[in-house]
Amino acid sequence: MAKPKKLTPMMRQYFNIKARHRDVILFFQLGDFYETFYEDAELCARELDLVLTQREGAPMAGVPIKKASVYINRLLKKGYKVAICDQIQDPSEAKGVVERDVVRIVTPGTVLDEEVLEPGKGNYVAAIWRDEQGRVGLAVADVSTGEFRATELATLEEARHELARLQIAELVLPDRQAEEADQLKVDPDQRLAITARSPHEFAPKVVQEHFALLSLESLGLTPLAARAAGGLLSYLKETQKEGLQHLSPPVFYSTSEFMQLDPFTQRNLELVQELRTGGEGNTLLSVLNETVTGMGERLLRKWLLAPLLDRQAIEKRLDIVEFFYNHELARRELRDLLAQVYDIERLAGKLGAHRATPRDLLSLQQSLSHLPALRTQLQTLLAEGDAPERLQELAHTLEALQLGEVAQKLQALREDAPLTLKEGGIFREGFFAELDALKAQEREYKQKILQLEQKERERTKIPSLKVGYNTVFGYYIEITKAHTKRVPSDYVRKQTLTQAERYVTPELKSYEEKILSAQERAQRLEYELFCQLRDRVAARVDDVKKLAQALAELDVYAALAEVAKRRGYSRPEFTDSQEIEIVEGRHPVIEAIQRDQEFVPNDLRLSEEETLVVLTGPNMSGKSTFLRQNALICLMAQMGSFVPAKRAVLPIVDKIFTRVGASDMLAFGYSTFMVEMIETANILNNATERSLVILDEMGRGTSTFDGVSIAWAVAEHLVKNVRAKTLFATHYHELTLLAEKLPGVVNMHVLVKEYGDEVIFLHRVERGVAEGSYGVHVAKLAGLPQDVIERASEILHKILQGNPLEAIEGKKPHKPKFIVQPALFGGEPHPVVEELKKIDVEKLTPIEALNLLAKLKEKL
Ligand code: ADP
Ligand code: MG
Repeated sequence: MAKPKKLTPMMRQYFNIKARHRDVILFFQLGDFYETFYEDAELCARELDLVLTQREGAPMAGVPIKKASVYINRLLKKGYKVAICDQIQDPSEAKGVVERDVVRIVTPGTVLDEEVLEPGKGNYVAAIWRDEQGRVGLAVADVSTGEFRATELATLEEARHELARLQIAELVLPDRQAEEADQLKVDPDQRLAITARSPHEFAPKVVQEHFALLSLESLGLTPLAARAAGGLLSYLKETQKEGLQHLSPPVFYSTSEFMQLDPFTQRNLELVQELRTGGEGNTLLSVLNETVTGMGERLLRKWLLAPLLDRQAIEKRLDIVEFFYNHELARRELRDLLAQVYDIERLAGKLGAHRATPRDLLSLQQSLSHLPALRTQLQTLLAEGDAPERLQELAHTLEALQLGEVAQKLQALREDAPLTLKEGGIFREGFFAELDALKAQEREYKQKILQLEQKERERTKIPSLKVGYNTVFGYYIEITKAHTKRVPSDYVRKQTLTQAERYVTPELKSYEEKILSAQERAQRLEYELFCQLRDRVAARVDDVKKLAQALAELDVYAALAEVAKRRGYSRPEFTDSQEIEIVEGRHPVIEAIQRDQEFVPNDLRLSEEETLVVLTGPNMSGKSTFLRQNALICLMAQMGSFVPAKRAVLPIVDKIFTRVGASDMLAFGYSTFMVEMIETANILNNATERSLVILDEMGRGTSTFDGVSIAWAVAEHLVKNVRAKTLFATHYHELTLLAEKLPGVVNMHVLVKEYGDEVIFLHRVERGVAEGSYGVHVAKLAGLPQDVIERASEILHKILQGNPLEAIEGKKPHKPKFIVQPALFGGEPHPVVEELKKIDVEKLTPIEALNLLAKLKEKL
């Protein structure tokens, strides 16, 4: 920015502060406005539609302080960060420029405002630290609830997966790694606030000092995880200033405790986001989300994106779900109580940040008032004797909380406690003697004013005389123009209106002073009392968090039981073998949204040896649905939910992979066959025999010959070497021949019926190969000429016999690989060929290679 040579003292102050906050938009208080200058002003004018003005030659744009949060929130949603620079000195006491300082930095990952936060979704900020070997420490925090954790991962790619699972809003990394930020995005278009910091801030001792720990060992942090946690904590301290009282010490967690779901699988299975729209409407979460609290919904989302691998832990969850499934009345009562509890987990966040308003504390008070009933209910359930272990633990947690005193103190709040702190109206009477006395004084003098009105009417004999009040002139005596002649001489005129004159008297003035001073003192006192109360409550923030977490968990169990009952799910069973038995399985989302048509349930039974299913069927018959429903059933089971099936016996799955043929993905930007192949390679390299692999029309993005051969080879490799359970939907009929050649391959198909000219989709999946080919069949239905259809049948037949080129050319080729695209390598030198020759493959990154490939393809 062009800094003018001669600066006023205020602008000098501005530049000093701005120099310390270069990567954020500085909101600089000027009286009742926050002003921005120079580039910040231009940006705000553009993004917020503000008028750009000038002040001392500097471009300036501002917003009224009263409405600032609206504007700040809009900037946050666009991924910007805002520093709030307040006047920290009373302007009347200032000699020269008023003192100003940044009191808070608001960023997308650290915001606490309900207007920006989504109630059912954690708001995460993460930090990354990579060492020379490429291993990565990752720390993540949700400032709105105080959650703080850290882990260590083997590669940046694994870190990308974990960040995608967390759906972070903001990323902090050491500046030497700044250019790696793009590699850590879920996709290139992800809107993510990124902050680069000095590597020195990524110091484990920041964590140790902040939490006053003797060592970091108690948290189980690896050195890399501790570095990431240090970097994140430094950043949080800078943005939140003192407001981190509620932050938990960062505990270590391991991603190997969870089922691995890469970002694409997460999207393709539509767990929390629809594939095509990105919306949240028809997703697994939306079907399962019968929670009644915000914290419950957030926990459900977490469980859904991190299904467990430990069978015992899963059964523990299922035990409570089953308990609430059977105890219908208890479930209803519990849910009714929980529904009246506010989001006290986020309230805890505001407490810790010293940002709770009287209204917030009132919400806490009202929530706590249901605690006795909740405790009683759980005790009654335990008394019945068959309560599962985890339910007992949760009941004990509730019993052990020390929140009685807090609840009692909060009784002092008025039922209409305001959002503001300094305008009074916070406390009821009968709790603080001094405050009561001030209120009494105010009432007494208001009473006196009423008496004065009566007295003056009698004295002046003006019946219409009245005492009024306005904020500019205070109390006055109003007399209509008709009577002004009778005004006594001790009246002092204050204001003239068209119909009346307004006066004050020394007596009225003295009462007014008494009232105002009582009000002012009461407001100041209420503010002080409120801050004391808030500090008292904040001292118990850990218990508030514990309560919130226990209630969230109960909410999730009751919700899962509720869905299970409502939708006819059953409890899954687990086996240590690699058998799968799903009887009458359904797709949880499609069955929920499809109203006009009954969902047709389908079985999947695979023995230990059967590892790959080749599923064929015409378009729209239900192949993709069948694939996904089986993956979803495994995932739901491992998060601790009942499943949409009559019966399910399942192995514990360590990872789910899904890949969709490139042309199916054209709609959302994953265009190239190359991408599909890179992702397939990833599966072949990372799947284990305990994984579940879903391949939907893989190979579709290229020519048929390439497609069939690659699909064939991939399937063969999966069966022979990986042995992951694989469901492979394909329109390549040829692949059904795999079953003849390889043990472990099973053919399945979706049944259709023909009635004359009509094809009826039965959506029923059966073992074996379907008769005939639907492609040719559909061509007939579409009215293609008879000779074309006959020729197509003939070609298909030949292909099935293994002579594709003979089928088309009628002869055997000499050099088959050149026939595919002879022009590329023979005859005139082609510009694309020339360009290809110049490429130094060694020097290309994978991304560059992809871009280049796309460019070349375009030229062709
Ligand atoms: P494919 O992948 O074979 O083209 P889809 O799985 O996409 O077919 O299914 C197409 C449509 O058919 C779905 O959107 C759904 O409406 C319906 N469908 C699929 N499976 C079933 C089923 N088992 N019962 C009822 N309708 C189904
Ligand atoms: Mg499909």
